[in-house]
Amino acid sequence: MVIIFKPKASKKEIDHILEKLKELKLEPKVSQGIERTVIGVIGDEAKLRTQPLEVYPGVEKVIAVQEPYKMVSKEFHNKPSEIKLGKNIVVGGKKIVVMAGPCTIESKERLMYLAKHVKKKGAKFLRGGAYKPRTSPYDFQGLGEEGLKYLAQAKKATGLLVVTEMMDVRDLPLFEKYADVIQIGARNMQNYNLLKEVGKSKKPVLLKRGMANTIKDFLMAAEYIYSQGNHQVMLCERGIRTFETSTRFTLDIGSIPVLKEKTHLPVIIDPSHAAGKRAYVSAISRAAIAAGADGIIVEVHDKPEEAVCDGPQALLPKMYDELMVELKSIAQALGRDL
Ligand code: PEP
Ligand code: MN
Repeated sequence: MVIIFKPKASKKEIDHILEKLKELKLEPKVSQGIERTVIGVIGDEAKLRTQPLEVYPGVEKVIAVQEPYKMVSKEFHNKPSEIKLGKNIVVGGKKIVVMAGPCTIESKERLMYLAKHVKKKGAKFLRGGAYKPRTSPYDFQGLGEEGLKYLAQAKKATGLLVVTEMMDVRDLPLFEKYADVIQIGARNMQNYNLLKEVGKSKKPVLLKRGMANTIKDFLMAAEYIYSQGNHQVMLCERGIRTFETSTRFTLDIGSIPVLKEKTHLPVIIDPSHAAGKRAYVSAISRAAIAAGADGIIVEVHDKPEEAVCDGPQALLPKMYDELMVELKSIAQALGRDL
């Protein structure tokens, strides 16, 4: 941490801060310039989090140099984390992973059809919500446990692993039973009680970035899960709110290299919710893999005009097939595979 004093800060004001640092057993390195004094502080910055130094007279600015997240940071774990699932699926490894399926589970037949289709061209996970976070309380809210049972049946028929969203801590036993990966949706990224509960679970978690959250907020949310003992956390960028309205959200493509630099956790991109329109989904997916993402989670529907949720952004099965071929060659160009 660096403490910068105002040009006219008095010796008394500077000494007072030095006293405070001494009390907290932090080591100050004082630099006396012509205009102003700067103190570099060595030691655990967390000790200062409850006593913001900006409030003291004479202090102009305090700059933190340590990140507030610890266990999810590269400093804690220098190599990329690989999350191993099922017999031979690795998220965050050499191969990129594809999670595909409808936005929500509508019927057993449709889910089964889509599961078989996406599996054929390389998906390793079946996505689909049984509990949906809808903006309107009058919209379809999901099939609930019945939907989870259909996912389990589709898994049995295809071998795909199941990734599905949990919204309520009281449903954890159901998700422990039916899900392979518990999705925490964008709207719940800062539901800290929910994060702590899935942090105690043994199920891997796909944590989606909130639509109005910074990367720091995102990593702090991941830290909630990780610090409870669950180290199988995947991050998912799904677009953030900006002034732009041409797409549903704005995919923060730059978040991919930033996350790769700051954390060891795998990064998955959701092009569907970012785009909001199927015509844009494939291009965004290709860009995501080219930028270093470990995989995508994408919505697919065979009759999007009949979909009860997010039809406009669902890829048609044929578009999905073409995208898989393209992603494989992009992955291979980067020394990876699909
Ligand atoms: C979803 O994956 O269907 C979903 C609701 O995503 P998000 O939480 O990113 O909006
Ligand atoms: Mn959706």
